[in-house]
Amino acid sequence: MTHSAETVLAEAHGIQDDLVRLRHRLHQEPEIGLQLPRTQEKVLEALDGLPYEITLGRDTTSVTAVLRGQGAYSSADKPVVLLRGDMDALPVQEQTGVGYTSTIDGAMHACGHDLHTSMLAGAATLLAERRAQLAGDVVLMFQPGEEGFDGAGVMIREGVLEVAGRLPDAAYGLHVMSALESNGRLATRPGTLMSASDGLSVTVHGAGGHGSAPHLAKDPITAAAEMVTALQVMITRQFNMFDPVVVTVGVLRAGTKRNVIPESAMFEATVRTFSEANREKLQHVIPRLLAGIAAVHGVEVTVDYSTEYPLTVTDDDETVRAESVIADLFGSERYSRMAQPLSGSEDFSRILAAVPGSFVFLSAATPGSDPLKSAFNHSPYATFDDNVLGDGAALYTQLALARIAELAAVVS
Ligand SMILES: [Zn+2]
Repeated sequence: MTHSAETVLAEAHGIQDDLVRLRHRLHQEPEIGLQLPRTQEKVLEALDGLPYEITLGRDTTSVTAVLRGQGAYSSADKPVVLLRGDMDALPVQEQTGVGYTSTIDGAMHACGHDLHTSMLAGAATLLAERRAQLAGDVVLMFQPGEEGFDGAGVMIREGVLEVAGRLPDAAYGLHVMSALESNGRLATRPGTLMSASDGLSVTVHGAGGHGSAPHLAKDPITAAAEMVTALQVMITRQFNMFDPVVVTVGVLRAGTKRNVIPESAMFEATVRTFSEANREKLQHVIPRLLAGIAAVHGVEVTVDYSTEYPLTVTDDDETVRAESVIADLFGSERYSRMAQPLSGSEDFSRILAAVPGSFVFLSAATPGSDPLKSAFNHSPYATFDDNVLGDGAALYTQLALARIAELAAVVS
């Protein structure tokens, strides 16, 4: 462990109680989407008195905080590093029974973003204390609306990547998990880390009629049913099994009464891919397949394929740097490089598409529990252990410090 990493970790653990308090307050008042006024208030309170230049979102309650380092650098440009923590909750009714349980009906921090917010606020304190020696600027990105609202896209449009005066040299994010790995373990991988997420919405237009006389109608239900299974068969026949595709139909709707053939039937699916090539291919093979099935049944179909979050791809070099920071802080035995990507999606992908960076998973599973049996993120039973808060704050801090030190030392 380097001297710097050792001090950062000790200081982060020193503010652990503050981080727990903040996290519990955030957890008790979860807010969903792009408008998180009470969350924003708590973040601003945590940053109060620290030497940050603060910009609030115009269309959202984002908080962007820039720390202008005062240390000397020999690089041509002053280094800039961006750290991101998302802040939004989910429309889930909490069932954990923890003492600091959600007080808002139908809303819960079920994905642990309350931990990210608290960790990044902790890093704000630790970084500010080092401002005099810090040979670069740090951009803290407190982001709303990660859960399907593209908060990162909005913040990019509102200028988060230019707020320091130039594009960041590197960007890092982290995500806690309530299961899969045992408490305190860290993981990431270079390259494709998470899938792209797209949406498919299909309507089959038939002709309604009497259920006893289908030959006088055009049944949209049998055609829709065939489409749902044909999609699965098509994936196994037309896509490389080593470059996976997931199409899950989560909505299927038609009809009002068992003896009435309805006018139309509809279904919606989430589409996950791990390569841009497959993503593009799906956008023409899905409509072709569904139009073919519609044609043989004599019905019409409209297919709407909408792109949502892109692939989350970490930079090879930045991931190696993150791995060395992790080893420095926590020892390499707590880390494993993931053999495969995760089939979730992230809007931090938009930042990583613009700036080289990495994204690290940190397990906050209950200590001593079997992580394979614990409730996973998004479950009403998912619990996240407070003890990782200090580690998360230290990780954010050290990622920025190490990268800035390296960049600043480049003689130009
Ligand atoms: Zn999340």
